[in-house]
Amino acid sequence: MTDQVRRVRTEVPGPRSQTLLARQRAALPAGLGSALPVFVESASGGVIADVDGNAFIDFGSGIAVTTVGNSAPHVVARATEQLRRFTHTCYLVNPYESYVAVCEKLNELAPVAGAARTALFNSGAEAVENAVKVARAATGRPGIVVFDHAFHGRTLLTMALTAKNIPYKQGFGPFVGDVHRAPMAYPYRWPTGPENCAREAADALADLIDRQVGAGTVAAVVVEPIQGEGGFIVPAPGFLPAVRQICSDRGLILIVDEVQAGIARTGSWFASEHEGIRADLVTSAKGLGGGLPIAAVTGRADLMDAAPAGGLGGTFSGNPVACAAALGVFEEIEEHDLLARARRIGEIMLPALHDLQRSHEAVGEVRGRGAMIAIELVHGDRRPDPGLTARVAARCHREGLLVLTAGSFGNVLRFLPPLSISDDLLAEGLSVLRSAVAAEV
Ligand SMILES: *Cc1c(COP(=O)(O)O)cnc(C)c1O
Repeated sequence: MTDQVRRVRTEVPGPRSQTLLARQRAALPAGLGSALPVFVESASGGVIADVDGNAFIDFGSGIAVTTVGNSAPHVVARATEQLRRFTHTCYLVNPYESYVAVCEKLNELAPVAGAARTALFNSGAEAVENAVKVARAATGRPGIVVFDHAFHGRTLLTMALTAKNIPYKQGFGPFVGDVHRAPMAYPYRWPTGPENCAREAADALADLIDRQVGAGTVAAVVVEPIQGEGGFIVPAPGFLPAVRQICSDRGLILIVDEVQAGIARTGSWFASEHEGIRADLVTSAKGLGGGLPIAAVTGRADLMDAAPAGGLGGTFSGNPVACAAALGVFEEIEEHDLLARARRIGEIMLPALHDLQRSHEAVGEVRGRGAMIAIELVHGDRRPDPGLTARVAARCHREGLLVLTAGSFGNVLRFLPPLSISDDLLAEGLSVLRSAVAAEV
């Protein structure tokens, strides 16, 4: 196990990482960048150690992937055991039990209306693509409605669903058609104030569907229960239930994209549970495999059965090692009550960050749920301050704290600690952040 200490021995990135970065620049395309370009030697608990002997407190979890911790014991044990037995058959050629067991578990847990079925994939984008395929097959309609600030992936369909142009879409068009974008209920930036946000955003969605697009041509509405890359935007309370109602009234499929917020991250198995909504189709991915690539679409049985045999799946989809890892993730969450741990992390982080907000006008908003928390950094008039955000992140990195930025305006610092982080490291990370903000404002 990696020593659970923060340690900065060299400049960041250090000399060995610099040498590897030179190799990277010669061998990889410029389009692949890293938030903190130190090459990793080992990681576990709440720490990532690099090849120069530096150790960073992890407030990123590889973007909400290692939610149960890096190399979590049950994940390692199950994946190792599976590696020894067989590595692949292709589920479309020969099935195996672990795939079915992962699907059964997700059917039991996912907030889906009625009996559920699950199909497995390799990535979040692939899950979203397949949810859209299922919605189109089940309804016979083409249209997809998405929201401002949404992120649903980097593939050709999901780029069209994603809101932000640079860096995700610039130069990669033309995009898939019949995708329509409604405003997101973003309380902090709602023009008429947060108290009107849920209602007015719901009205705008209904207007878009009924008057501009035509409900009869829409297959599905796709929404993140808490927007991830868009800046950890928690929709105004009541908005998600209103979206659910709008879909139900018109016979539209509601796809809830839980790829980032799902799998224990927010203190419940799925983030849509906080608003009590049940989706028709739910996507999950990031936290599902404890670091191994696996994704899922869980949905109403009648919808999931609409695609013809051979219409879903893929060569690597639901790989047996990744399925074993996912079963290990479920065990970690249940055995260590990681839902409660995620809530506890929120209870520690939110007051500390609200204190920071009281000391610095630049901290415009603190928001999030459980272990999915962010601060939005602004100028006095709420104008986004991406420059300050980048400087605070860079200072945290130099001081041994891994934080990630996010947001349509690049002015959000997001915190996604692994649920295996200790209270001491969490407190130390918050103190590094506090000093970094104080030094850079
Ligand atoms: C990350 C993310 C995706 C895309 O997942 P990939 O595994 O990178 O393809 C889709 N939706 C949401 C909400 C995400 O956060």
